[in-house]
Amino acid sequence: MPTTCSSAILRNFVSPFDATVVQLLQAAGAQVVGKSNCDEFGMGSLNTYSIYGPVVNPYQAPTSPESWAVRERRSAGGSSGGSAAAVAAGMCDIALATDTGGSIRLPASYCGVVGLKPSYGIVSRWGVVSYADSLDCVGVLARTAQDVKKAFDVLNVYDDKDPTASRPDVRRRASEAVQKSHWNAEDGLTGLRIGVPQEYFPAELLQSTLTPVRRMLENLASRGAAIIPVSLPSTRFALSAYYVISSAEASSNMARYDGIQFGSYVEPPAGTNKAKTSNVYAYTRAAGFGPEVQRRILLGTYALTADAFDNYFLQAQRVRKLVRADFNRVFSVPNVLFSTPSLPSDAGVHVLLHPSTIRTAPRLPLTANQTRCNNEDTLDAYVQDVLTVPASLAGLPAMSIPAGLGEDGWPVGVSIVGQWGCDDMVLEVGSLCA
Ligand code: GLN
Repeated sequence: MPTTCSSAILRNFVSPFDATVVQLLQAAGAQVVGKSNCDEFGMGSLNTYSIYGPVVNPYQAPTSPESWAVRERRSAGGSSGGSAAAVAAGMCDIALATDTGGSIRLPASYCGVVGLKPSYGIVSRWGVVSYADSLDCVGVLARTAQDVKKAFDVLNVYDDKDPTASRPDVRRRASEAVQKSHWNAEDGLTGLRIGVPQEYFPAELLQSTLTPVRRMLENLASRGAAIIPVSLPSTRFALSAYYVISSAEASSNMARYDGIQFGSYVEPPAGTNKAKTSNVYAYTRAAGFGPEVQRRILLGTYALTADAFDNYFLQAQRVRKLVRADFNRVFSVPNVLFSTPSLPSDAGVHVLLHPSTIRTAPRLPLTANQTRCNNEDTLDAYVQDVLTVPASLAGLPAMSIPAGLGEDGWPVGVSIVGQWGCDDMVLEVGSLCA
């Protein structure tokens, strides 16, 4: 099957090898039945930036069959909308996807399925096309947390072909830290401390999606979990920092698509001075990259210029550090990557719980042939990620699970976020919430 990243520039590209994650699943007996649509190179939140057109959300309200006939075309979310839609429509049992700033959790939430972004470095990225290397994670979507776990258990192995993979000794230290966490899934929710971060209920969050979240918290409390309000004050800067860092890394990663190393070559018009190499690249890249990818390349290249570096890129890295420190302050389990101290059992929380997204799936205004959005739509798409990017900046495991339906009858997701390396804990809590 071709590896196109939904981009014209890779329209005819067939990879000569399989990614480690694909090899692992096949070796465990899985059958690959297809590849799924996504936003071009993973850049987007609504899966509308794709040469294949937008992904339509297949969710069907179980209670009102008469409304199916007039069903609205809503977004499946992005960037991994195809993976979420394929799972939601029952076309496959599990789907792989990447999550750089929310691309698994957002579509999972909009489509009413489960989506796990593992801890950064836990699942191999060898053979995966890079978007922003310091953030990219491969994860799993499925209809139940149990199915996600089944796939995650196969993928949760060290791969020496991935230079960013966490080494076995770090994995061992993380699982030792979890064992000392004073919570055991066999005891159900008793003893589990769940933090609810107050900053995850921003002004943009639609109140009509809050009822299922509240109901889930009440249910968890009635079954023995302690619900603890916490504060992660740097959250409000996370979205801006994410878009600076991810675009900067993307601009560097996209450099390889020049029509010579990678990408379909587009011949410059007759008379172009081909001795100037930038002339040769320009026609290939202008024709091959869609509008959003071009926007990110410009944004990212600018953030890395000498003039802008301190104000944008360095500042964003400082914010990233603050976001990480916020999380480390609230989790009872220490962060083994930064050797933070463990908190006493009656302080700190095991996991955080918050709405996955600020709304239910947005309507799709775009027709299949129309992939351009105006500036307002672009900004609106960026804001969709406001609740998912902090865990990405901190490299933490985060899983979106269906919480019920919003007032408009469309799925609402809730995210469970754990300390680095607590992927199994996140999966266990996710199963108990369902
Ligand atoms: N929507 C975010 C972006 O466009 C996240 C995408 C992703 O996780 N791949 O960058």
